[in-house]
Amino acid sequence: MNWKSISERILEGGKITETEALAVLESPENDLLEIVQAAFRIRQNYFGRTVAIHLLQNVKSGKCPEDCTFCSQSTRAINDVKRYDMQPVNVIMEGADAAVARNAKRYCMVSSTRSPNPNELATVCEATVKIKAKYPHLEICSSLGLLTEEKALKLKVAGVNRFNHNLETSRNFFPNVVTTHDFEERINTARIAKKVGLDLCCGGLYGMGESLKDRVDLAFALADLDVDSIPVNFLDPRPGTPFYGKPNPMTPNSALLALCMMRFVNPTSELRVAGGREKTLRGLQSLAFYPANSIFTAGYLTTGGQSYEEDKQLIEDAGFEIEIAGEKNTA
Ligand code: SF4
Repeated sequence: MNWKSISERILEGGKITETEALAVLESPENDLLEIVQAAFRIRQNYFGRTVAIHLLQNVKSGKCPEDCTFCSQSTRAINDVKRYDMQPVNVIMEGADAAVARNAKRYCMVSSTRSPNPNELATVCEATVKIKAKYPHLEICSSLGLLTEEKALKLKVAGVNRFNHNLETSRNFFPNVVTTHDFEERINTARIAKKVGLDLCCGGLYGMGESLKDRVDLAFALADLDVDSIPVNFLDPRPGTPFYGKPNPMTPNSALLALCMMRFVNPTSELRVAGGREKTLRGLQSLAFYPANSIFTAGYLTTGGQSYEEDKQLIEDAGFEIEIAGEKNTA
């Protein structure tokens, strides 16, 4: 496979085929750097050498009635995850202060819920208005489960820039990991977010036992939705979930190839290496900046991660630069 010519085709407005995308994931180790280089040509064209930092705030933890088997925040997971209801506005604002102190471009309020109730929605909207008044350039993302158009519009009017709702995996594999809602409901919420004018952040989780074709299918499903931002998580098996104690099928190389494949299929989307980054990519973390242009820093919803200082060093050592909120890409 000539990866350079595939990247040139994509840069000229063409597409990668599903067969070629699968070939990325099946590539021998000797092809790894050539594929990374090809993905980087696309990434550099649209995003230069900038890395957008996002900071998460778990505004409601461990209270979700859904049964996503990978998630430690489902009430079906038996573990010691912190369980609390929606945080008050002042606590959510403190999270925004911490995000700004870490040069974050976006602050993401995430709630473990099937769908926000009216009080929860009002709290997120009030916090957004106050954060925007204090930090006009800080972009606000929220992840609140399934939305109706009415709920999505309230977020939009309050000033939320982006809504996150992951597809998690392929349509085919989805019933293996979630039974309390279906893939179509997730697609529907993603479409509602776009319809009301919210940026759509929509990604998934690799390493749950899905096939390589399932990984490709997820990437193309995201392309069909024309997503603005794609978080790619790698399974970090959590206590109390069925995955705990089982070996993680993702190697650093396979994770890097998955990111490259995602970049080929979704050339203009912001691509974020999300949860599981440190544990899965390990010594290859800095290579992830070649296909991806964004990370979460300072940990995730229920797990720790590298500190902002460590991530800043990682970015600088790799020759990339942090994208500051309110500044444009240098592409
Ligand atoms: S809907 Fe979200 S918070 Fe709830 S169990 Fe699934 S992944 Fe976890």
